[in-house]
Amino acid sequence: MSCDFIALANTGIQSLHPYQPGKPIEELQRELGLEHVVKLASNENPLGPSAKVIAAIAAAGDDLCRYPDASGFELKNDLADYLSLSSDQFTLGNGSNDVLDLIARVFLEPGKSAVFSQYGFIVYPIAIKACGARAIVAPAKDYGHDLDAMAAAIEDDTRVVFIANPNNPTGTSFAAAEFTAFMAKVPSDVMVVLDEAYIEYSAGDDTLDGIAVLPRYDNLIVTRTFSKAWGLAGLRIGYAIANAQVTDLLNRVRAPFNVNSLALVAAQAVLADTDYIRRAREVNNLGLKQIEVGLDRLGVSYIPSTANFVTAEFPAAAQTVYERLLAEGVIVRPIGVYGLSNHLRISIGLTSENRFLLQALTKVLGGL
Ligand SMILES: *Cc1c(COP(=O)(O)O)cnc(C)c1O
Repeated sequence: MSCDFIALANTGIQSLHPYQPGKPIEELQRELGLEHVVKLASNENPLGPSAKVIAAIAAAGDDLCRYPDASGFELKNDLADYLSLSSDQFTLGNGSNDVLDLIARVFLEPGKSAVFSQYGFIVYPIAIKACGARAIVAPAKDYGHDLDAMAAAIEDDTRVVFIANPNNPTGTSFAAAEFTAFMAKVPSDVMVVLDEAYIEYSAGDDTLDGIAVLPRYDNLIVTRTFSKAWGLAGLRIGYAIANAQVTDLLNRVRAPFNVNSLALVAAQAVLADTDYIRRAREVNNLGLKQIEVGLDRLGVSYIPSTANFVTAEFPAAAQTVYERLLAEGVIVRPIGVYGLSNHLRISIGLTSENRFLLQALTKVLGGL
């Protein structure tokens, strides 16, 4: 190389590692010549997309030569109705990952810092460091967020705190009362990002609902996504909800057409499909039970989950279990990058997929 290009990059980016996604089904089929592969690695909705989404996408085909509506006017109106908010509170993103990046770009720069939890979503340190800001990791409690520790980790130069509730990759969540106590300790000039990618699975119990408390805190940003319970991971669409001034800032750095036209109509279609989201929750509740019972039978311990995945713990490094499951045609997610090298994260699938996983796991553990 004529030049060390790494040395030319932004300082924060020099030490970054790219996000590692779950292994694609086709890749495993190619590598091992397997026909039947079950992927339980990326917390995707096993139901497939809503039929209403497929119809909406087909109908939108004729307009593909046009740029999408850059303001996402209709979807934002639908979301405002759905959540009883105002449409000037929404920022749409190419997945909620996109809006997490926008938040970092608006509020972080060299000389500033952001706080997230041990075992917190790996995208947070990527977003923080890409802006040249300092990442502060607060210790976890029982694999979940220790909100007291997070509040204590805030320093003078801290501008953002990232919290996932429920958390990925551990599936833990906290109740509204804990959050109220936390917010009382957070300075008003520190933005709190509440990432609710899995909230649809935990709603109904006493898990905090960020939308319900949003009016109380000007420094709160809630992010949500259509990738998980709504079944649109492949289309890439998510959003942030915040006060109108913060929303204006986020929209200043948003790429002009960051959400494509098919994602816009698909999101509108699934939002109106109340039966789909009800079934998604139902299938997940049943599947989570099924996998927990199966793991109990196998004597495998796991972190109790409030989301659409469960994180299992093995007595030793889980990489061998992961690889042997691949050989059986099952893709799960190793999470060594989170410092959890004895754990595997298993997404909840359809009944038949969960059964396939449990059978494969029985075989693999028997052969170790
Ligand atoms: C999956 C996930 C997201 C959503 O990512 P998208 O970009 O919307 O697909 C956000 N936060 C967490 C914690 C997640 O696990």
